Amino acid sequence: MRTEFTMTRRQFIIATVICGIIVAAAVCYGLLLGNAERREDPAPDKITGQAQQTENITAGSEGTEDAGASLGQQEGEQQARDASGGIIVSTPKYALPLEGEVIRDFSQDTLVYYETLDQYMVHEGVDIAAEVGTQVKAATDGVVSKILPEDEMGVTVWVAYPDEVTVAYGNLDSALSVEEGDALSQGEVIGVIGQTSLYEKNDPSHLHLEVMQGEVLVDPSGYFPF
Ligand SMILES: [Zn+2]
Repeated sequence: MRTEFTMTRRQFIIATVICGIIVAAAVCYGLLLGNAERREDPAPDKITGQAQQTENITAGSEGTEDAGASLGQQEGEQQARDASGGIIVSTPKYALPLEGEVIRDFSQDTLVYYETLDQYMVHEGVDIAAEVGTQVKAATDGVVSKILPEDEMGVTVWVAYPDEVTVAYGNLDSALSVEEGDALSQGEVIGVIGQTSLYEKNDPSHLHLEVMQGEVLVDPSGYFPF
């Protein structure tokens, strides 16, 4: 009996040690799994990054700082894209800088023909036909953040608006009505149409209008009622 008891105790000790090892292994595995899940957390953000960007834009268009979109909203926003892949925001909120026919649409993914350059390029704005000298008016209240002459857009006034939206009014005459840092009210005259874009100077005279959401050029048709 003594021997049997000793064996049983040894067996008990061995079983206890094995159980201890199993429990320790399970705890370690659980911790590792937890860490792995935490590391994987950013991945879904990357996958839905585009949707979140859209969400921000839409939130901006509605004037709400707090995005907090539901899954259903995200799905709707993902569908809200035009054929060229530009992001469409449902509710335009800015006044048109001038009245005129759109003669070249936003085309970020599809090349369009530039007669002046005799080549195909993307067009990251919208061109609105207008006579040289036509007044260009601020779309909404904002601050002139930058003025620069450049080859592609000609003389251009960038105006910063709420919700990290910046609008570029391009192809203006160099005699402007505003300076950098000016606070503009909606409807205030920025300048007049010129023919200063070297890329588009053979096109009918027009306003070249671009919109940036944060650092991303987006389709102006999401912000203006063309
Ligand atoms: Zn243009």
